[in-house]
Amino acid sequence: MPPEQPVPLDTDVRWIHGSPSPRHRTDPPLQVHRLAPGTVLIRQSKDVTFEAPFILLLLGEHRALLLDTGAVDGTMLRQAVDGLVADWLSSRAQPTAYAPESYQLVVAHTHAHGDHVAGDAAFADRPATTVVGHDLDAVRRFFGITNWPGQVVPFELGRRPLDVFGIPGHHPTSIAVHDPTTGLLHTGDTVYPGRIYVDDPQALLATLDRLVAFAQDRGVRHVLGCHVEMTTTPGRDHPLGARYQPDEPSPFMTVAQLAAVRDAFGTVADRPGIHRFDDVVFCVGQGPRVLVPLQARALLERVRRQLGPLRRRPGG
Ligand SMILES: [Zn+2]
Repeated sequence: MPPEQPVPLDTDVRWIHGSPSPRHRTDPPLQVHRLAPGTVLIRQSKDVTFEAPFILLLLGEHRALLLDTGAVDGTMLRQAVDGLVADWLSSRAQPTAYAPESYQLVVAHTHAHGDHVAGDAAFADRPATTVVGHDLDAVRRFFGITNWPGQVVPFELGRRPLDVFGIPGHHPTSIAVHDPTTGLLHTGDTVYPGRIYVDDPQALLATLDRLVAFAQDRGVRHVLGCHVEMTTTPGRDHPLGARYQPDEPSPFMTVAQLAAVRDAFGTVADRPGIHRFDDVVFCVGQGPRVLVPLQARALLERVRRQLGPLRRRPGG
């Protein structure tokens, strides 16, 4: 059973956030941070992919869950995960029955968008590894969710029970993963400090209600998503495609912030367009009201980034 008091997470970390100049890239390809024993958060660099997704690894006594494989080829991620699994097994006070090559790894996805599944191929030939498929049938079958999306199903890692349930709205296959051991609720691209792209507003309304009720009922401590796109100025996001985000908020949100996100969406769900709130920007629909301003600003950002170092040249 999980402890009464969740294991505290070390969320006070300066994440890699890209390099000021495209001509002088300084980030490592991955940043690996241990939030707690057996709880690892990995970020891909903005120098490699503007998506710079966060990837969660949860390790239990019998198996581990990797949530997402990132936005680029997964070779480096695979190396990092292999090292983390080996470290975890060798750090156990009770020597486990598992060698690194027999300890199971489940590779699942917060949802099927390309920036969350691009590294899958690097895990295809990994021993003792299951890579969950991308379509809704495959996701439901793997986790045993018969009543989608409302049913909360257990997923056991070995002395580390998780809860999994469907959270459609951003994408039809989106899942939430709850780790009672640490009080962490992973919400993928459905809730995070950034642009929440709404594919199905009615589904997202219901999903946010269920997420808030779940988080309050289960005493969730931390809400975590896959990206950070906001600045530290409330209501202001970095441009789409930004490669350098020195003023980022933490990827972790509180349950109070989650509830505020739910309340905010209720006021704009039926209005296609871009709607700004303190912690998130809702992009409702895929029409010109959303795409034109996002892409215009992205283009300006690209030009500004290319010209930036020239402008700063002495005497220039
Ligand atoms: Zn994403």
